[in-house]
Amino acid sequence: MSFIIKNASYVYTVDDQDCVLENATIVIRDGVIESINPANVPADITEIYDGKDRLIMPGLINTHSHLAMALLRGWAESVNLDGFLERVWAAEGAIMDKPTSALGTELGAAEAIQGGTTTVLDMYLNPDATHAAAVKVGLRHVTGPIFFDFPGLDGMEWSQRIAFGEAWPTVLKNIGGPEIPIYFMPHSTYTDSPEHLHEVAQLAKKVNARINLHVSETMNENQAVNEKYQKSPTQVCEDTGILDVPVVFGHGVHLSEDDIAIVHSHGTSIGHCPGSNLKLGSGVADYLHYISRGVTVGLGTDGCSSSNDLDMWSVMRIAAHMVALKHSPADVQPAQIVRAATIDGARAIGIDHLVGSITVGKRADLIAIDLTALHLTPIHNLAALLVFAAGRSDVIDAWVDGDKVLESRKVTHIDEPDLRKRVLERVRALADLKVGTN
Ligand SMILES: [Zn+2]
Repeated sequence: MSFIIKNASYVYTVDDQDCVLENATIVIRDGVIESINPANVPADITEIYDGKDRLIMPGLINTHSHLAMALLRGWAESVNLDGFLERVWAAEGAIMDKPTSALGTELGAAEAIQGGTTTVLDMYLNPDATHAAAVKVGLRHVTGPIFFDFPGLDGMEWSQRIAFGEAWPTVLKNIGGPEIPIYFMPHSTYTDSPEHLHEVAQLAKKVNARINLHVSETMNENQAVNEKYQKSPTQVCEDTGILDVPVVFGHGVHLSEDDIAIVHSHGTSIGHCPGSNLKLGSGVADYLHYISRGVTVGLGTDGCSSSNDLDMWSVMRIAAHMVALKHSPADVQPAQIVRAATIDGARAIGIDHLVGSITVGKRADLIAIDLTALHLTPIHNLAALLVFAAGRSDVIDAWVDGDKVLESRKVTHIDEPDLRKRVLERVRALADLKVGTN
């Protein structure tokens, strides 16, 4: 976990000034960034990474996903969110037991790392199993118990969910892995009653947990919640005490001005998923408007069943294009989009003291981009290169806590052919459920 990156062609720090260094050196000791361009490199660290023709930047941070759904890539096509949920829930019912949730998460975590994503905020069933699987792959995997009113696929009654929430900090400690905050994940205001949301909020306060839930992904959701409670989903969150702790809204597409004021006053963050939202025709959040109102907005892919990949590079590009479309090309600032995919995502999740920028004292969650590619040549504007030209196959190496989790495009902690074989075997169980030709 100690090494020196020497002569990196570029180091895109994403620090407070978005400093870009050329021919730079970074010293990493015990997984922590010890110094940048020191006068003398420490003699006791002998492992050297040659940074020639490499751009080093912070690992990307995915603020909304369901990694295990990588098993259902392409399963529900040509449908809106309601049709999507119907098809996906049927498939999940058929296969998503604990070992399969872990398998899907292993697949998703490996895909994320291969694409330069080093942190994922991940909501899924069986988080003890999914977390162990993601930690094995080497991801900084931020997850927590999920809460529904109904028993759900995991068969847990409400009282069991609460008990599991109380035990969660201990579960995390026992699994180990990169440092993460404690999270609770009530699914949404349409699957959790106000009474139950209140209970989750109380428990979160008790154990210092943060909360992640889906809010205002579609207009249909807003209408349904409004008919039931005469409130917006955001207002339900505020009234039940959910917003009294730090929260990440998954999606947050359709927020009214009143909602945005509530979000801002509570310091709530948004996990903006423009790719998933466009694919399901849900609409797209007004990223620029939210940040102009002082709201922290990170980027997310959503699950592979709706997005259909975990590619944060395409999400950056779509997010930038949507700014041009909703506002104007003059309002598109590539550096701001890079921040959304790194430091702002870290801030949204509550880990900006650990990762999100290349800053002395932070953990070494880093990625290396291979600049020898013709499509990355020449370089006139580095941020624009990353947002509009680079892609996930340009990520050649990656580290989490200084641990090299990706080397020459290979995920180091797992056997990729073996994982592929296990996935293909497991999804055979879906054959009888398959509808149509997609
Ligand atoms: Zn989601």
